[in-house]
Amino acid sequence: MVDFSFSEEQELFREAVREWLSKNLTLEQVRENDTNHELPKSLIKGMGDLGLLLLTLPEEDGGSDADWVTATIGAEELGYADISVASPVFYLVQASWGYVINKLASETVKEKYIRRAATGNGFIGIGVTEPGGGSDVAGFKTTFKPNAGGGWNINGEKCYISGTAEAAEMDGGYFVSGFNNRDAGHRGMTAAFVPINYEGVEITKRFDNMGRMAISTGGFKMTDVNVPADYQLGETNRGFYSTMEGFDAARVLVSASCIGAAERAMNLGMDYIKERMAFGQPLAKYQGIQFDLADMVAHHEAIKSLVYRTAWMLDKKYNEGFDALELAKYISMCKYLAPHHALDTFRRVLYWMGAYGYTKECPLEMGMRGVMSYCIGAEGSANIQKIVIARETMGRDWTKTR
Ligand SMILES: Cc1cc2nc3c(=O)[nH]c(=O)nc-3n(C[C@H](O)[C@H](O)[C@H](O)COP(=O)(O)OP(=O)(O)OC[C@H]3O[C@@H](n4cnc5c(N)ncnc54)[C@H](O)[C@@H]3O)c2cc1C
Repeated sequence: MVDFSFSEEQELFREAVREWLSKNLTLEQVRENDTNHELPKSLIKGMGDLGLLLLTLPEEDGGSDADWVTATIGAEELGYADISVASPVFYLVQASWGYVINKLASETVKEKYIRRAATGNGFIGIGVTEPGGGSDVAGFKTTFKPNAGGGWNINGEKCYISGTAEAAEMDGGYFVSGFNNRDAGHRGMTAAFVPINYEGVEITKRFDNMGRMAISTGGFKMTDVNVPADYQLGETNRGFYSTMEGFDAARVLVSASCIGAAERAMNLGMDYIKERMAFGQPLAKYQGIQFDLADMVAHHEAIKSLVYRTAWMLDKKYNEGFDALELAKYISMCKYLAPHHALDTFRRVLYWMGAYGYTKECPLEMGMRGVMSYCIGAEGSANIQKIVIARETMGRDWTKTR
């Protein structure tokens, strides 16, 4: 039986989050964060107190055992409130990668880093991309060599990494993977938790991005970083696979935050066109504008349904062992479509607003800059999503890249 309804708990969760955000993360606050280039501590702490941070983790590890549909609702609501998508980044990176890290982490890593992050007193991120490129995970340069203590000696550099400044300030860390056996290709990669303030780790810079200014994007270099054995995440040689698992979850939540931001843009746009007069009547009365709106709404509902269907599939994967490759295709369709739909929505609504839309008095430009990050990269670029979609539709023989 097909049932598209949310459970009562999911509806209550949405209501509680929306209400809290309407008081604690107004568009004025989002503008302030964007200008100051930081998320206020009170906001992060509040998200922790509300149970939003790392909500997908088991309760004993600081989460609330939330399913992926619920986590998707959280991402959508955060995107709706914070159209710049800065606080959604803080939330979704941890809900997704934090989940995978926690699943693979030792009690030491959980105790030192993860449970603290769930309360808003830490940050757990993903450090995959390297200066030589982000799309080709199996082409990375980072190396893992066994060290004397039974752990790993890690050398390499990561860049365009979300939250490096926040992680340093809150003594957090990253999921990092690298080659322990390059000859084995992607089957020779291992993952570890690398604390950002660890000996041998140096933050290289904070990039001056065009959008989502309130959360940092930086880089870090690892020179003879010797992590102990209990900082390894998962089995040796399984680093590539756990990286893909993290991407799966993160891409669904990214898509949901873009859907939330697009919905806010449409609502702001509708408020505007109902008020703004041209040629003696509100803009909303012109069919040229209504057709634009209808086009946006139709795309919006289609992509939103796809995102929630995919979140539901993700739950099925964890609960019932759903086909991971079939799921990857759906996830990539979300990650390809939702950010572009959001960008297009911001552009169209900005046009409705004329010259006002082009100013910083209008909040929408923050959204346009923010969702652009997800069209470009951040959890995988558009073409990589297309490669996955084509591969899982036609078969691997047609899309071999190596
Ligand atoms: C704001 C922001 C935050 C980010 N945060 C993180 C983070 O927290 N952690 C992290 O690890 N990374 C992060 N990234 C990096 C992001 O994941 C990468 O940008 C992404 O994986 C693409 O890598 P790249 O930028 O090196 O582009 P490249 O891999 O160099 O690709 C450049 C272009 O070529 C295209 N391309 C590549 N290969 C192919 C192919 N085979 N066929 C056709 N086209 C191809 C890509 O689609 C892209 O358009 C972030 C990026 C941004 C913009």
